[in-house]
Amino acid sequence: MGGFFLVVAVSLAADKAPQERMTGFSAPGAKAEREVESRFKGIPSAAEARKYHRYLTAEPHPAGSERNNQLAQYVADLWKEQGWEDVTIHRYDVLVSDPREVVVEMVSPVAYRARMREDSYGEDPDTRNPNVRGGYLALSASGEVTAPVVYANSGSPEDYEVLRKQGIDVRGKIVLVRYSNPYSYRGFKALMAQRHGAAAILIYSDPAEDGYVQGKVFPEGPWGPESHIQRGAITYDFMVAGDPLTPGWASVPGAKRITTQQAVSLPNIMAAPLSWRDAKPLLENMGGPAAPKEWQGGLKISYRLGGAARVHVKVDMDTRLAPNYVVEARIRGSQFPDEWILMGNHRDAWEFGAVDPSSGTASMLEMSRALGDLKKQGMRPKRTLIVCSWDGEEIGLTGSTEWGEQFADELKKNLVAYINVDSSTSGPKFEPTAVGSLAPLVVEVSRSLMDPSGRPLYQAWKEDCRLEARSLGGKKKVSDAQMVDTRIGSGSDHTVFLNFLGRPTIGLTFEGTYGVYHSVYDGFYWMNRFGDPGYRYHILLAQAWGVIALRLANAEVLPFDFAFYAMNIRQFLEALTKGKYSRRELDLQPVLRGIAQLQKAGDVLKQAVDSRLAAGPLDPAVAGPLNQCLMAFEGNWLNPEGIPGRPWFKHMLYAARYTYAHLELPGLTEAVESGDWKTAQDQARLLENALAKNAELLRQAASKLTAQRHWVGPEQIIALKRDRPEMGRKKQS
Ligand SMILES: [Zn+2]
Repeated sequence: MGGFFLVVAVSLAADKAPQERMTGFSAPGAKAEREVESRFKGIPSAAEARKYHRYLTAEPHPAGSERNNQLAQYVADLWKEQGWEDVTIHRYDVLVSDPREVVVEMVSPVAYRARMREDSYGEDPDTRNPNVRGGYLALSASGEVTAPVVYANSGSPEDYEVLRKQGIDVRGKIVLVRYSNPYSYRGFKALMAQRHGAAAILIYSDPAEDGYVQGKVFPEGPWGPESHIQRGAITYDFMVAGDPLTPGWASVPGAKRITTQQAVSLPNIMAAPLSWRDAKPLLENMGGPAAPKEWQGGLKISYRLGGAARVHVKVDMDTRLAPNYVVEARIRGSQFPDEWILMGNHRDAWEFGAVDPSSGTASMLEMSRALGDLKKQGMRPKRTLIVCSWDGEEIGLTGSTEWGEQFADELKKNLVAYINVDSSTSGPKFEPTAVGSLAPLVVEVSRSLMDPSGRPLYQAWKEDCRLEARSLGGKKKVSDAQMVDTRIGSGSDHTVFLNFLGRPTIGLTFEGTYGVYHSVYDGFYWMNRFGDPGYRYHILLAQAWGVIALRLANAEVLPFDFAFYAMNIRQFLEALTKGKYSRRELDLQPVLRGIAQLQKAGDVLKQAVDSRLAAGPLDPAVAGPLNQCLMAFEGNWLNPEGIPGRPWFKHMLYAARYTYAHLELPGLTEAVESGDWKTAQDQARLLENALAKNAELLRQAASKLTAQRHWVGPEQIIALKRDRPEMGRKKQS
């Protein structure tokens, strides 16, 4: 169904809708799009989202489990019912890792056996579910050791340096570290312990970070109680994501596999998580020198570095190949079926996973229901929409990575953008991320959505940004340009699309006070009591997700802002160059000039597109090749060889540190940080070339608009007449 029919059918309703600017649309196109979006936004219902959420969180559903596989079928059936097309379940045979036995017991100076399990509470009957497992860390090595314990704070390289200065060697010992705040990926802690020769690592949740020091604990409050355990994987997926045995290619049945000895992302150390209740007896009996002041946690004891306590650790993991299932469905595009907008969320959870990831799954199922309804009403998007339910995200970003690797060639060519939602809701604070070219779109869309507080989402979000800036001692004013975080780390399913395939990504989430991450208490009760009683943010997320997808799917000119992207790259470079080296060592002037050129080309293109669209709908014969140009942009940031030392990570602007923290201009930054000026110069050269290539691409794109005269069909002429007054206003640009 063409857009024109909609303009006629709904022009009355559309007149009342807010007339915000809509990047990439002519006035008639925007009018039609507004109507499609307003119908879409009316469909998601809190009651439906809650129903899905209850079903998803009724049982533990970790990757590779019977229950999670049933949920794959459930999602597939639902998508068929909702009107989605080409529903497919993809199977990947990957490493899964289940605990047979995990024992942590102090043998001296006093005997204490860690319970490794969480308490149940009458308020939340799910906590009594017999299928809930004890604490373990996936892909831990198996083995057994009895050795002294050393407290190593958060287990970062600087922490080991402190121990070394105290004359404490961790070789052959057991290190006890805390889950740190700000968040640092537990796999990084495991790798550090392994590199320092420790025999095992225990990671516990200190109340200073997610327990009583923060506020009321479960079931009275949202923070973690004494027995809560943060499960998780320790896979070294910051080296290479996905299944460790198929690095860079898909784990389809029968695929070639490397050996576990060859797999760089497989940990080689025993690891287990502890609640603070189980860690406390160890900490109390550590002995040895007092730990530094900054290492003291929230327990009312004096934290010491260790030496006196001996602990027996036994980990027996059942690590084997088993199927993971990715569910995929489409709504084929009416005009450009080979241009894809992809939306995805992982399905696997540590236990019930009410926030992580089932809030995202519930939002996704409401979003897909609404998009399916539009299709049933004859409103097929111009471009193809694809939804995916990923598996094994919690193990090593596995399902999305394998799927991305399997369809790499098509995705590089056809994928306009990937919009990821992991947890959709743990509170009311909107925290989106996006590549620079798509950040302005997220801000634009937020103006057309209503926050449960009764204001536009844009306003509520901006107010949060302002409060945050103030709490950090910054300026009170926050500009639109600062609202979306364009620094993208790892730790979720966008990784393969951005870092391996060079496709633009957006991540959406609402956050709040959340102290039960990866524990049994991240359940339906928690969500209804603390996270999102009423499911209003689940619905808002579904709306935001779908509207962004529809904007991308229906735009006449894809709404990328490359001038903004260039400005971002300049900020990345400025952050890097703050006093770390001198001009003699590395000349970044050519890169800065390249950025300026790119920004200029982006501005020229933006003006050409805006004024062309102000004159009326764009002929698809012009728009088609133009959009192909714009889609090629992100891929030009890929270096086929990858960043030094991590060939799987190919994006020159984005990667993640081993902690999962964002890392911009990764090749250049890591070289500068290690003082390797030769590599830094090489990386700068690569960046310079990519900048020049993309500036040229944008100049070509702009010339497609200015050089060509084209025929305007009769339906567009009618549309133009109807919108003449508005057209006149827009002409001023
Ligand atoms: Zn997650």
